[in-house]
Amino acid sequence: MWQRYHARPMSLDVLVWSDDAHARGLPAEAAAHHPYGIAATIRRGLACVLGQGVVTTAAALADDDEGLPSERLAAADVLVWWAHEGHAALSDAAAERVCEHVLGGLGLIVLHSGHNSKVFRRLMGTSCDLNWREGDDRELLWTVATAHPIAAGVPHPVELGPHEMYGEPFDIPAPDELVFVSSFTGGEVFRSGCCFVRGHGRIFFFSPGHETTGVLANEHVRRVIANAAVWARRPLARSEARRLGRPSSSAAGG
Ligand code: ZN
Repeated sequence: MWQRYHARPMSLDVLVWSDDAHARGLPAEAAAHHPYGIAATIRRGLACVLGQGVVTTAAALADDDEGLPSERLAAADVLVWWAHEGHAALSDAAAERVCEHVLGGLGLIVLHSGHNSKVFRRLMGTSCDLNWREGDDRELLWTVATAHPIAAGVPHPVELGPHEMYGEPFDIPAPDELVFVSSFTGGEVFRSGCCFVRGHGRIFFFSPGHETTGVLANEHVRRVIANAAVWARRPLARSEARRLGRPSSSAAGG
């Protein structure tokens, strides 16, 4: 006889990594917005949107194994990456470890200045350079892919208020899906929400997230990051990914 099980859906396990050492060392103007660190702000946003559907953990560069032990990466469904000053301090071994886990199916959300991280650059295979300006530009976030799950419930456009300008050209491979573009008071435009697939892993780059503004607490930014975490969740059971091995389409660069 068939039995139907109504088990609670398993929570999404999200590891939120930052280079700010859990708020130690953040400049005062950033600490005012992130009194418990940037990872804490991001975790709060995920919890507000996803409630009991998500379990989050903070990790930082200053932690053991640079906050990125292989066992923790293997257990997580999604890794959220926020870093600014610490790109060079991350060891090549840790960056390589993260890339291997992403190719094996770990979802990755790279926020804001994470475009310049070793992890993102390796996975893209390009410099990931862009134009930027810190000023009082107003950023508008425009939805390009209105039916994409990451855009669900996100108004069009979202006004993000004064925010650091990121502008084209952005040296990345053509995204598999472009979900958002941004425009700025200065006239610049930017591909601000980009999806990629590398190996078994789904990657979402999202540019809002400058540390001296309250943008990471913006309700719509929270919604985008939460939608992205759901979208980026491991598509395969770990055992299945191991059985299939690394796909030949993997594009980790040097
Ligand atoms: Zn910034």
